[in-house]
Amino acid sequence: MKISMIGAGYVGLTSGAVFASLGNTVWVVRRDSEKIEKLKKGIIPIYEPGLSEIVKRNVKSGRLIPTTQYCECVPFSDVVFIAVGTPEGRDGADLSQVYAAAEEIARNLKKGFTVIVDKSTVPPGTAEEVTEIINKHKRAGARFEVASSPEFLRQGNAVEDTTKPDRVVIGVSSSKAANILVKLHKDLKCPVVITKVRSAEIIKLAANAYLSLRIGFIDQISDLCEKMGADVQDIIQGIGLDRRIGTHYWWPGMGYGGYCFPKDVKALAALYKASGQKNNLFSKLDELNEKRVERFALRISEKIGTLKGKQIGVLGLSSRPDTDDIRGSVPLNFIRILLRFGAKVKAYDPMAQENAKVIMGSDVEFLNNPYDVAKNADALCVVTEWKEFKKLDLKNIKKLMKGKVLLDSKDIYTPEKIKKLGFTYLSTGRT
Ligand code: NAD
Repeated sequence: MKISMIGAGYVGLTSGAVFASLGNTVWVVRRDSEKIEKLKKGIIPIYEPGLSEIVKRNVKSGRLIPTTQYCECVPFSDVVFIAVGTPEGRDGADLSQVYAAAEEIARNLKKGFTVIVDKSTVPPGTAEEVTEIINKHKRAGARFEVASSPEFLRQGNAVEDTTKPDRVVIGVSSSKAANILVKLHKDLKCPVVITKVRSAEIIKLAANAYLSLRIGFIDQISDLCEKMGADVQDIIQGIGLDRRIGTHYWWPGMGYGGYCFPKDVKALAALYKASGQKNNLFSKLDELNEKRVERFALRISEKIGTLKGKQIGVLGLSSRPDTDDIRGSVPLNFIRILLRFGAKVKAYDPMAQENAKVIMGSDVEFLNNPYDVAKNADALCVVTEWKEFKKLDLKNIKKLMKGKVLLDSKDIYTPEKIKKLGFTYLSTGRT
């Protein structure tokens, strides 16, 4: 098939490259010509394991075509995906990029039938708004349907998640659009869930809110474990073997973060409120999550007296390992709180450092490796579970530090081993 992918970020570029690998011709569209020129040479603007290789391969074979121009691709496409950003807005998601993309798609639609698919995460009713925009701006003879097929990939694992998805959700109004989209996804060999358009839109928000809820739940259980002398990892094992619960996806720590979970929980909270209902679980979840990070700064402060003037080392700047994305970064929120309490912060991240520098500027001293961060630190905080941090020479780290507090917010170390080395160990939910 011929596909236009409007938006070539984490979602658009990965999906575009995977659809190209499956033998389709895919144009990936973004506005900045500098990044498009680089993409034409196979240089990707983000870090995502394995993505560079498939982009290079498909650009070279001519199946993946980067462009800044809708007119070069939309008129020739069977399917046009909208995969632009939907950042947090005042009352839910800010859909301005979706509306702008819809308008430009409309102006370039061919005569005949095109399926336009919202892949961006959007609230229910958006497909209808996009339909309205397209009807207003399209030329005569262009026929189309707006469908919804939300994306579920995880950054850091995007290629694998897109190549082998757990499921594909397709929200459509006609069997014609359903058939085209089922055919397009056929080679992914995964369950395809065909739904009403509004259901597909809610499925995405519900999935992210549920995953966030699991994090919020286990965060509170971990708080209890700390107070009661229990170990949250024992709890995870003990509850997880109940098949209704499962041992997977338990991440106690500083709360959920990243580009999607916080904004999608807020969007669902706003929707629930707008639907006139009270007792909003999603608002409460959001409120608890927002307050969570400070707790960790206070725990360090309790151990070292005060944070004012103290040297605090932070290892990890992205919310997840294997990504350079710092949108909604929990570690950066943590650093902001440390700075507010008067601490001096030194930090290191294997991939997200350059992006973090742009946001934090000279407020943070960025160093080139974990050992320089540890040097003379009153406390060292390991806050992202990068593989590199799991393999640290902690004996050496201990020698380099001035103080002995080690915060392991993602529980990547074994408490007994750490304590044996002489650290004052702070974890999440373990004593
Ligand atoms: P992103 O910011 O990485 O990419 C968005 C891209 O859209 C950018 O390349 C931007 O230049 C481009 N763009 C914006 N307006 C445009 C326009 N009018 N025409 C052409 N290009 C335009 O965002 P992302 O992380 O890829 O997320 C995209 C959507 O997918 C969001 O709705 C997000 O919530 C959702 N999503 C993201 C993830 C994730 O892990 N990042 C996972 C699932 C779903």
